[in-house]
Amino acid sequence: AAKGNGRGRFSFYSSDLHQAAEQRRVLEEDLRDALARGEMELCYQPVVQSKSNMVTGVEALIRWTHPERGPISPALFIPIAEEANMIWQLGGWVLRKACEDASRWPGEMRVAVNVSPIQFANPDLPKVVAGALAATGLSPDRLELEITESVFLGDSAETNRMFKALKELGVRLALDDFGTGYSSLGYLQSAPFDKIKIDQSFVRDATVPGSRNGAIIAAIVALAEALEMETTAEGIESLDQLDLIRGLNVSHVQGYIYSKPVPQAELLDHAEAGSWTIKPSGPARQ
Ligand code: C2E
Ligand code: MG
Ligand code: MG
Ligand code: MG
Repeated sequence: AAKGNGRGRFSFYSSDLHQAAEQRRVLEEDLRDALARGEMELCYQPVVQSKSNMVTGVEALIRWTHPERGPISPALFIPIAEEANMIWQLGGWVLRKACEDASRWPGEMRVAVNVSPIQFANPDLPKVVAGALAATGLSPDRLELEITESVFLGDSAETNRMFKALKELGVRLALDDFGTGYSSLGYLQSAPFDKIKIDQSFVRDATVPGSRNGAIIAAIVALAEALEMETTAEGIESLDQLDLIRGLNVSHVQGYIYSKPVPQAELLDHAEAGSWTIKPSGPARQ
């Protein structure tokens, strides 16, 4: 950070900003070829039914290994892809690859795919989703699309049309990162979500004495139950958190306590025909 004041300050900041902008420009350029160069991969994180330890599905999470810089977080490059007009192509690849992979898995495991608000705002999205399902033969009810509250900032008539078109395909819809965005409970009234994903930030401190997060999670669960939606708690890392989440009747959990996101091959080492369960200490067979 810059320190001191006076004349040197402005140039210090501007060169800092300049460096950041330059780094970003380089990253954006590298991102343009990353898909074609085979630098992108999908990892899968188990989603577990909290009562039974049964894996009901996985969330697909994109991974980029940069040839020089190594792994780059999607939290960093997804926003760049969104701003630089690349998310439609990247998101299309994710959708297609996730459906392709899931269509070969044993059992009825679902796959959840993150959909950017920019993809959601494109009227061609239902066509692309239908195309991925048709090409891979994946049953629509095994595909769950995760979208965030920010889609409600757009034109509400178009948002409703998109919801309707996607539901008509038979796919499931999940509301991701619930509670972190521009939460207005009004939209839950009409939006056809099958699941609410309770953001990791509520889970993180829920076990700290005096925390109000448990009360907030309980309220979200009550809301979801009244609307006949499932719930998933994101980012469970400790047994204490898991106990608390189970006690609050959150229907599904996801987090390092069960498994990190893993490559497909590793996932399939554990998945069996039919159903599989996993221990809270990691993806070993029970
Ligand atoms: P998200 O959709 O909310 O995904 C959950 C994030 O939490 C993932 O981070 C996951 O690895 C991480 N996570 C899971 N369990 C734990 C835990 O116990 N502790 C901690 N600390 N973290 C945990 P990741 O993979 O880095 O992805 C970050 C975000 O990037 C995602 O948040 C999503 O918004 C976006 N993203 C990832 N893949 C895609 C994609 O294919 N398309 C789009 N549009 N966005 C994606
Ligand atoms: Mg997600
Ligand atoms: Mg999330
Ligand atoms: Mg998130």
